[in-house]
Amino acid sequence: MRLQPVPAFNDNYIWLLVDHAGEGSAPEGASRALIVDPGDAAPVLDVLRDGPAPHGILLTHHHDDHIGGVAELLRHWPQLPVIAPHDARIATATRRVADGERIDIGPWHFDIIEIPGHTSSHIAFHGRTLEGMGLLFCGDTLFSLGCGRLFEGTPTQMLDSLRRLSALPVGTMVCCGHEYTVANAAFALTVDPANAALRERAAQAMTARDAGLPTLPVTLASERDCNPFLRIDTPAVLAALEHHLQRALVDDVDAFAELRRWKDGFSG
Ligand SMILES: [Zn+2]
Repeated sequence: MRLQPVPAFNDNYIWLLVDHAGEGSAPEGASRALIVDPGDAAPVLDVLRDGPAPHGILLTHHHDDHIGGVAELLRHWPQLPVIAPHDARIATATRRVADGERIDIGPWHFDIIEIPGHTSSHIAFHGRTLEGMGLLFCGDTLFSLGCGRLFEGTPTQMLDSLRRLSALPVGTMVCCGHEYTVANAAFALTVDPANAALRERAAQAMTARDAGLPTLPVTLASERDCNPFLRIDTPAVLAALEHHLQRALVDDVDAFAELRRWKDGFSG
């Protein structure tokens, strides 16, 4: 098995999940790939040249930097299933999926989780590798040490979406749509500077980026320990928010909305 973030544009990741010959139920000599959020076809074609045959495409949301390469990939593999949310803005979809559905694609199975907030129809795919490792493809909703901007949803929706993701098994490998970890770490450390796990994660992310390596995937356990957007009910994050706002918070939605607003205006 190979789980590979393929860099695209400035900071996007297109995720490839590949299983090789002799693994799981793959027939001898074959290897197969799943492509998640191909905003650009070229880097995918580069990786798949002489390599595994794609079995399908998963799309988390309609933004062009996540779906822009689909048409070109379909010119190479016209039969490829394209699994997407119910959203007419994704014209290349061959199958639309909704919350609670389970899809079978190649040797893999994924549960669909609707997570509105970044966009109104954003979904996540939660499944396992053939070896049993939990996987979450969550697009632009949960980032390492951060979360997506609210373009179409409300803070209530986004908080609910993040809580659904946060409740998945802690060993789940989180596969986000962008390499934002180091920039997110600067804000997270401003909010939660005494968090030892966060400081360790931030240092590890900077070392990885200095070496030209991705900071992803990351375990959900790490995000639950370090990501302030998953920790709005902890005393440290609440105290930092109230100090920043110079007022008492009303409830969780107020806390989440204010944390998101603080980050929107945060520069280094
Ligand atoms: Zn997006």
